[in-house]
Amino acid sequence: MTWTGSSRRTTAVLAVVVAALLVSSYAMGRTLGLDQLGHNPTRAAGDSGGVQHADQPEAGSAGPATRDHSASPPDAGQDGATRNAAGDGLFGAHATTGTRRIALTFDDGPDPQFTPQVLTVLRRFEVRATFCLVGENAQKHPDLVRAIVADGHTLCNHSWNHNISLGNRSPKDIRADLLRTNAAIRAAVPGAPIMWYRQPGGVWTYPLVSVAHELGMTSLHWSVDPSDWQAPGADRIASMVMSRIRPGAVVLLHDGGGNRQGTVNALDRILPDLAARFELTALPTEAK
Ligand SMILES: [Zn+2]
Repeated sequence: MTWTGSSRRTTAVLAVVVAALLVSSYAMGRTLGLDQLGHNPTRAAGDSGGVQHADQPEAGSAGPATRDHSASPPDAGQDGATRNAAGDGLFGAHATTGTRRIALTFDDGPDPQFTPQVLTVLRRFEVRATFCLVGENAQKHPDLVRAIVADGHTLCNHSWNHNISLGNRSPKDIRADLLRTNAAIRAAVPGAPIMWYRQPGGVWTYPLVSVAHELGMTSLHWSVDPSDWQAPGADRIASMVMSRIRPGAVVLLHDGGGNRQGTVNALDRILPDLAARFELTALPTEAK
């Protein structure tokens, strides 16, 4: 590139082009980098030895002491070579919305104490989100499933009992788990679309994505994880989300599985700013 015509205008145009290239390559790097593609295929999905899960563990399983959330967004180290073109994450799971909109997702509910609070905050700011329901919780709290749908939020299957190792089971077992979960949800809200599946812990395997797809569900990962399941407090949850948010983000939050008061309070704090800067959307209930 030569700089013979060094008018301010040319310089400015070039600067804009360079900046755009940098931003797009950064965004691409983020999208791919978030999923830590193919760096350590020996770390089998679902192997609890040293694998970090951003999603919260099953009750009684390995706790926070085994987890390191200090660096890049944690995820299980599956082999990215097997990902396909369906989504931008592992095995084709979607880690971003594919548009400039951002999506808030709430996992591990419904929960009688915190789901109603989350719904209240979302209603106050007229935000629609996506709830990844655990089957046995949906069975216990059908009224909350109905409240979620009544407020215009969309649904995601999060397995029957938050089984982080589900991906290591046979396709038949996976299918039974996902169907049982959908049945519990549909018992509360007959006919409600359940287009998404999120594997607990983000421990994706090909059979999980494949079976979910067979059952009409798109696999859903995330791109922003404030580790709210560790209950680090509203301040930290809020600052983590706001520092990592960018167009297209899928934000992983929790309305169940523990004390989620910090998440509720953080939402109350960040939603005005988020809603001013981005269009917040529930993930769609039909394929684009
Ligand atoms: Zn979960």
